[in-house]
Amino acid sequence: MKGFHRGGSVIDVSDVVQYLYCPRKVYFIKVAGIRIQKPKMEEGKRAQAEVERNIRRFAEKMGGELETGIYLESQRYRIKGLLDAMVKTDSSLYPVDIKLSRFDSVSYSWKMQLTAYALLLEENFEKSVRLGYIYIVGTRKLIEVRIEPEDRRSLMRIIRKVEEIIGSEKYPSASKSKKCRYCEVYDFCV
Ligand code: SF4
Repeated sequence: MKGFHRGGSVIDVSDVVQYLYCPRKVYFIKVAGIRIQKPKMEEGKRAQAEVERNIRRFAEKMGGELETGIYLESQRYRIKGLLDAMVKTDSSLYPVDIKLSRFDSVSYSWKMQLTAYALLLEENFEKSVRLGYIYIVGTRKLIEVRIEPEDRRSLMRIIRKVEEIIGSEKYPSASKSKKCRYCEVYDFCV
């Protein structure tokens, strides 16, 4: 497509999420260069402070510290991303992903996203990460998520597929479904 630019060789954690929503979204975002808005906390700074306070309290209960907004990059897995938060104890690291949702069930896409952050933390801090957390803003719940070896293998397969789409620049086949109605690139998709 004329006038559009391709992404770099390192993919974003968000590309994994987009791929799992629909492979064609990766094409629009990374090959065609269409920008989509990340959902933001509409409630503003007070709500953000409350979320951080709740997660910090949890980190302290674990005997650890909270760090927020951690940029991570891995040449080994060729992936990068900005992790919402991390709980750091003497022995371990735990990625925390914040979701603007009211649903307490962990989707496969959320799990793959957390797996990606676990791998990024492992490489950047040289510690193994076997557990992460998803904080649900709507219910103020923190859900524990185990990162299993099979999750890591699944993530690797997804990363390779995302790279294939970007590298080949081929328009992926996709079947229209109910989720097309909520898709940010609906207007471009034929
Ligand atoms: S509109 Fe539907 S088919 Fe097109 S990219 Fe979005 S989800 Fe995929």
